[in-house]
Amino acid sequence: MQAQPPSRRIRPRRLAAIGTVGVLTLALSTSAGTGGLAPGTAPAGAGPGALSRSSAHGPCMISGGPEIQMSEGVPTTAGYAPSTGTVRALNLMVDFSDAPGEGEAMDRFAEFFPKTEEWFRTSSYGRLDYRPETPVRDWLRMPKSFAEYGIERGAPFEPGYRKLVQDLVAAADPEVDFRSYDLLNVLVTPNAGPSALDTVLSVTFAGNADAPVADGVPVANASFVYSRQDDGSGSYDETGYRVLPHENGHVFGLPDLYTQEGGGAVGHWDIMSEDWGANNDLLGWHKWKLGWLDPSQVHCAATPGATDYTLTPLARRGGDKVVVVPLDGESGYAVELRTQEGNDETVCRPGVLVYKVDADVDTGMGPVKVYDSQRDSGGCTRGPNVHAELSDAAFVAGETFKDPSHGLTIQVSDADREGGQRIRVIRD
Ligand SMILES: [Zn+2]
Repeated sequence: MQAQPPSRRIRPRRLAAIGTVGVLTLALSTSAGTGGLAPGTAPAGAGPGALSRSSAHGPCMISGGPEIQMSEGVPTTAGYAPSTGTVRALNLMVDFSDAPGEGEAMDRFAEFFPKTEEWFRTSSYGRLDYRPETPVRDWLRMPKSFAEYGIERGAPFEPGYRKLVQDLVAAADPEVDFRSYDLLNVLVTPNAGPSALDTVLSVTFAGNADAPVADGVPVANASFVYSRQDDGSGSYDETGYRVLPHENGHVFGLPDLYTQEGGGAVGHWDIMSEDWGANNDLLGWHKWKLGWLDPSQVHCAATPGATDYTLTPLARRGGDKVVVVPLDGESGYAVELRTQEGNDETVCRPGVLVYKVDADVDTGMGPVKVYDSQRDSGGCTRGPNVHAELSDAAFVAGETFKDPSHGLTIQVSDADREGGQRIRVIRD
């Protein structure tokens, strides 16, 4: 992994640790690989490189500079795990002499599955067939104590995580062929380290080509989950798994949307922003980035004039999902219809969400900003661990979003009979 530049402070909750990823390129990755945890080994036609587009999408294919570690740009750079088709996830449950596993290792696994694979199936409209596997069904005891690895919030890959990965590869290798998997989940015994209420240690090292090698492939895409994200509201059994789809989002190339200030930029509209509390989905931009939308479902509004669109609820399969309004080569607005269905449990004011995506802003620095149609209202939800203010951000029929500096107006017209929402995009 690359060291964090000194100007970059540790993010408040989790650090999306990024490995060495290639220089940004607009070329589609078509390399067919042999499987395994290594970058560039996505099966042909799968992975972030499988993002669907046509020539009409050109102006909307925004990208950031090479200094951006993990960008909102499309297509996603190479090195991450494939996000479409069958994705095999290796799950290893680990414990330590100073934090021996309590109960069965498979009970730890059951905190996250089958909920995580169901979450991805729902969010991806069935395009991500997530297969969690547990070739080792007991706790894997690490040779050092937890304290000796020096794992802290924001800890870099060197040297603690490298040692931990080397040790778990050595422990699992007799029973595991690492070439068979696209990503690794390390489900750490919850009694190792601090409570997630105090410090969230969970972290992902993604696209990390310098990771230790197992069975000839680097363990490049690995998520580590610690403790339990139990907010004390009694909903842990329902919602505690959501840290894993968040961490795996990094493995598929998605950046953190929360910032030093917390979830105020995007609120509960994307699991990369908030993964505590009630269930929520991903932004349509992320679904396009992950290859879960067809070219016909994403419209690029690049030309002057007025154009009408009918958006269908993002959570529903089929139909038009996202209108992208590019501003320059690095940024643009995205517009989508969010309703209370699918993974979107907390939507309390269904409507048209308008947000700005900036591919030149790094993970954790606010690459996405949601516009609030009801500023300073306090929001419409009182659900725990949901950023309330932005919960009523969506625009409803009769409301208009304006960005005069870019000559942009988005009018929300009436709904159609099937629950679709008509909008008009006007560019000067
Ligand atoms: Zn994260």
